[in-house]
Amino acid sequence: MYTSTKTCSLTGLNGHEVQVELDMSNGLPKVILIGLAEGAVRESIERVRSAIKNSGYSFPRKKITINLAPADLRKDGTQLDLAIAMAILSLDEELDISDNPFIYLGELSLDGKVNKIAGALPMVISMREKGFRKFIVPYENRKECSIISDVEIYPVKTLEEVVEFLQQKIEIERSVGEFFREKVEYELDFSDIKGQENLKRAMEIAACSKSNILIIGSPGSGKTMAAKRFPTILPPLDFEEAIEVTKIYSISGLLENNSLITIPPFRSPHHTASAVSLIGGGRIPKPGEISLAHNGILFLDELPEFSKSVLEVLRQPMESKEINISRANANVKYPADFQLICALNPCPCGYHNSKNHECTCSPYEISRYLSKISHPLLDRIDLHLEVDEVDYKEISSDRNGESSSDIRKRVKLVREIQKDRFKDKTYKYNSEIPEKDLKKFCKLDEKSKKILEFAFKKYSMSARTYNKILKTARTVADLDGKENISEDHILESIQYRSVDTKFWGA
Ligand SMILES: [Zn+2]
Repeated sequence: MYTSTKTCSLTGLNGHEVQVELDMSNGLPKVILIGLAEGAVRESIERVRSAIKNSGYSFPRKKITINLAPADLRKDGTQLDLAIAMAILSLDEELDISDNPFIYLGELSLDGKVNKIAGALPMVISMREKGFRKFIVPYENRKECSIISDVEIYPVKTLEEVVEFLQQKIEIERSVGEFFREKVEYELDFSDIKGQENLKRAMEIAACSKSNILIIGSPGSGKTMAAKRFPTILPPLDFEEAIEVTKIYSISGLLENNSLITIPPFRSPHHTASAVSLIGGGRIPKPGEISLAHNGILFLDELPEFSKSVLEVLRQPMESKEINISRANANVKYPADFQLICALNPCPCGYHNSKNHECTCSPYEISRYLSKISHPLLDRIDLHLEVDEVDYKEISSDRNGESSSDIRKRVKLVREIQKDRFKDKTYKYNSEIPEKDLKKFCKLDEKSKKILEFAFKKYSMSARTYNKILKTARTVADLDGKENISEDHILESIQYRSVDTKFWGA
């Protein structure tokens, strides 16, 4: 006797169709599972056996061979349970599911409940691309799956429910997609930050042009406070970006309210983080912090406290905006287009150059501390900023700063300008203008050219730094509503590249 059902297995974010083929013959009762099944799948049979019995059905006392096709694809994850159980149950004449169009996704618990799985959204998206439209999914995964509009999602809580639904004894209400909401509310706001106009200005520029930013300053200068509020001045994600982010959170099992993520994610790994937790990995490679920060922010507080080798692994994905993870049994690619915000103290004690406190560090200690950050990494950060401790006058002032929603309006406007400017290009932001297009988009007048030339020599800048100044000046001019870059724009932009010379030398 032969039967089959369909399910899905992921490699990275790509889902592959898996056919559960089942053959039953007379012989000693046992189950043989073939077809490159990995850990969780090999254990599946025991879960399925108990779930079937505890749902009130009988498990056939025959020789059962289960093949997971295609045989050359490694399958992992607990979501195969449901498809295997349905194949076994369909050997009973009362449940004919041949030619049945469903993709079955679900983990079974021993008592027959259908449990939540990781990666339901990328599975539904991949299988939809292959032409499948009907999905039976765990009830707890229903919201993320229903984001996709032209598929039928049937959420289930128990194995029994699936059987009775297919026997047409009960109806299951389809889960219908939630609409994409533009309205977003934040708990934090930029108006909480008193004073620190330089810092707020630099953050606004970074938000407009998707630039990386490094903030150096003593404790109490509001670095962390400002970084945490950065997402509130960014426009919400568009639908495509939101889907990309939600897929990554789905596969990581981190979808909290189970629906579409529409605000840029903010990730803040601790400085004890390993390279694997940052870039991703594991036996079955999972996304790391840089992918969880995709289309959002990766905030590294206390930058020199991170291990130097961990920081160096960031360089490649900062260029390519994605990460390849190779393991013996898999090679997967995850997107990693994040905006980097780094914060650090100027020295180990924190008060080098402070107006209010005395620094207790020796010059050697300071240089050793700062040398943890390499020049190539500094070079890849667009804006560098030194901030002072907040004045008493500013803290005690009743005057609130500008609200996030007001700043966000300007950011949106400058993003629109860029959208229009780069409509025929493969890149979207000023910070991404390639060298060959700099002349076209960042034209300088004679005065600005002279100023930049002078700064280039004075600070012994690298070509990369020079180009970054041009791109920042483009954004400053955009914020100013100007078509052409003028000397004010260039002067402001040079400021954001002089701190590295001051602290790290040329
Ligand atoms: Zn110090």
